[in-house]
Amino acid sequence: MRKPLIAANWKMFLNLKEALSLAASLSKVNTDGEKDIFIAPSFTNMAVVAEELKKSAPHISVAAQNFYLGADDASSGAYTGEVSLPMIKSAGATAVILGHSERRNIFGEDDAFINRKVKCAIAEGLTAILCVGELLAEREASVQNEVVLAQLGKSLAQVADLTNVVIAYEPVWAIGTGKTATPAGADEMHNAIRTFIGRYYGKSASNEIRILYGGSVKPDNIKALMQQGNIDGALVGGASLNAEQFEKIINY
Ligand code: PEP
Repeated sequence: MRKPLIAANWKMFLNLKEALSLAASLSKVNTDGEKDIFIAPSFTNMAVVAEELKKSAPHISVAAQNFYLGADDASSGAYTGEVSLPMIKSAGATAVILGHSERRNIFGEDDAFINRKVKCAIAEGLTAILCVGELLAEREASVQNEVVLAQLGKSLAQVADLTNVVIAYEPVWAIGTGKTATPAGADEMHNAIRTFIGRYYGKSASNEIRILYGGSVKPDNIKALMQQGNIDGALVGGASLNAEQFEKIINY
């Protein structure tokens, strides 16, 4: 059975004090090992949050929201303002969110760049949380499956082993908008993703890979989403910034 995974994406929110206080509140949430919990703070808050969780809640893992790769996959160099893979690792991240629609659509990251990052992240032993999802116009043109499966295929090019890969299906029209895919609609896409994985990686990989849903997940819709056969967890933005709401999501 796939272990549920609930991940928080704190995006560009929370100063250091606020991040520590939220981490301290979440450290009290215990799932008795039945679910994985990941928290993705900003780069500046990551090391202190990781340090705090190591002491108070070692069952909660820290994920980075991104990292940068220089030319020829350089993991250091003259890239002013950027943060490398060894840096996030040494700051306590054991996972990293890659291909988030905000990275794709605001910062122009393409599948080829995301693919390089996925390969480097897993080579370094991190879990890659690979985000895919269609725009509203693509959904309205009924090309969502083609779009999502193309993102997936290109982002996973030359990735032979999916053990350290988690996929997050995040329809862009549902992120931060309060609009959620219906549980059945989300499950349909998750099923298409799982079938795709089965075709290229075999049955056991498709049975084992965790596929999270993301897009306005809240305490009142998580249960119905998690009841779907192909939804293994959630990637949560807005509602993860509130300890009470995020706890309710974890304990759906
Ligand atoms: C996200 O950014 O990954 C996300 C799902 O955000 P929200 O929950 O706010 O829609």
